[in-house]
Amino acid sequence: MSVSDLHLDANAVAATLQQIFVSEPTSAERVCQSCGQQRALGAHRMFRGAGIVLRCPACGDIAASVAVLPDRYVVRLRGTWSMTRAEAEASD
Ligand SMILES: [Zn+2]
Repeated sequence: MSVSDLHLDANAVAATLQQIFVSEPTSAERVCQSCGQQRALGAHRMFRGAGIVLRCPACGDIAASVAVLPDRYVVRLRGTWSMTRAEAEASD
């Protein structure tokens, strides 16, 4: 048995991931890659310009950026993110 026999690609859990990622995101917790502080996404500072930048409320390092392009959004996340959604909500 090879390693490739033990896994599928992440497309196999696309529906589960979609249910999690469409939940209310401001309660997601993030651990900053620079200062190590853990804060809810809603506590981050938002700056708007050519796009949207969220910064760590403790050290100011970039937590996320959203570029708004004519045909799509480009989202970059930094640090360690954790999202929790109750299973009952996930089956809605
Ligand atoms: Zn920080």
